[in-house]
Amino acid sequence: MNTYKITVLPGDGIGPEVTRQAIKVLNEVSKVYGFNVEYVYADIGGIAIDKTGEPLPAETLELCRNSDAVLLGAVGGEKWDSLPLDKRPEAGLLAIRSGLGVFANFRPAKIFPPLKNASPLKDRVIGDGLDVLVLRELTGGIYFGERKRTVHMAEPAAYDTMIYKKSEIERIARLAFETARKRKNRVTSVDKANVLEVSRFWRETVTEVSKEYPDVELNHMYVDNAAMQLVINPNQFDVIVTGNMFGDILSDEASMITGSIGMLPSASLNSTGFGLYEPVHGSAPDIAGQNKANPLATILSVAMMLKYSFNLEKESEAIENAVLSVLQDGFVTRDLATDGSKVLGCEEMGDAVASRIK
Ligand code: NAD
Repeated sequence: MNTYKITVLPGDGIGPEVTRQAIKVLNEVSKVYGFNVEYVYADIGGIAIDKTGEPLPAETLELCRNSDAVLLGAVGGEKWDSLPLDKRPEAGLLAIRSGLGVFANFRPAKIFPPLKNASPLKDRVIGDGLDVLVLRELTGGIYFGERKRTVHMAEPAAYDTMIYKKSEIERIARLAFETARKRKNRVTSVDKANVLEVSRFWRETVTEVSKEYPDVELNHMYVDNAAMQLVINPNQFDVIVTGNMFGDILSDEASMITGSIGMLPSASLNSTGFGLYEPVHGSAPDIAGQNKANPLATILSVAMMLKYSFNLEKESEAIENAVLSVLQDGFVTRDLATDGSKVLGCEEMGDAVASRIK
């Protein structure tokens, strides 16, 4: 029987609650489908700062590197907001992504049919549903370039630099084309080539790589237009590939089109398929510890883990089908409640999904 070793980083706020439900569901899947999961727990974010002074202790990174996949809850909270930038919980996120070399962030923005009404967009825009994948470069670009406070023309000033190496663009572009081949064969590369040199280089390089994938349709779009197109005609997109900062913004926008941040999983992968899996939402301090959080984003992140890191397609689908079945029966957490819906707590939602795994 295969055994998978997973490092679990519950983090802060609702992180521990939602990861508990995801593990409950994963345990059920492993029982039904016959594989073993071994869990190792470690700290990241605020809780790690409280214990060690560091948002990502070296020991946590080491445990992650020695496992088959990593499941992360969320980090952050007011308590740590006044710390210097590099000591805040969010610095732990940047550090773990670069420490694990997970350069590709997959964020599917998918609408489950029973939740169609949660989308802020009109029916005529959404049509029968939505299934867009934003693939964001995660370990390069402006978030990792040189930055400085300085003095410019006798005034205080600051700068950040955006730099992409050719190899960094090539590997994310290849992944986009490979991924599109398993979907609808369309890639939209997003940049700001009308202004930025780094974007002109990005566009040139993606176009070059596209020659290896003549069966996949490629188009280019400026980021400002992409932001508009996502709300007026989101179904034109299949895979959107873009750099770190544009991807950060567009993936949040795409998420919001689905109507609930509590439903959105993500996967960040390196070149060997090793992955860090986490919900898209933050630590939601306003509802932490009240059994109100929606655990489905974390549960669906585990479904992505089974598919992307362990090649367990059936098992992954079993989770998605169980989630769909719960929603079809009208059960939701408070964030998605409308008239007539049956509201469950975080714990009970985890139970409901686990009990429908087959
Ligand atoms: P947030 O995503 O935590 O919360 C935004 C809103 O959505 C809140 O009203 C919250 O209650 C709600 N929400 C979020 N997840 C939910 C869920 N699963 N179920 C139900 N409702 C949910 O974003 P924020 O309020 O801007 O940030 C809170 C903290 O989280 C900050 O410290 C921020 O830096 C951090 N943060 C962490 C991550 C991460 O760990 N990946 C991402 C974003 C923000």
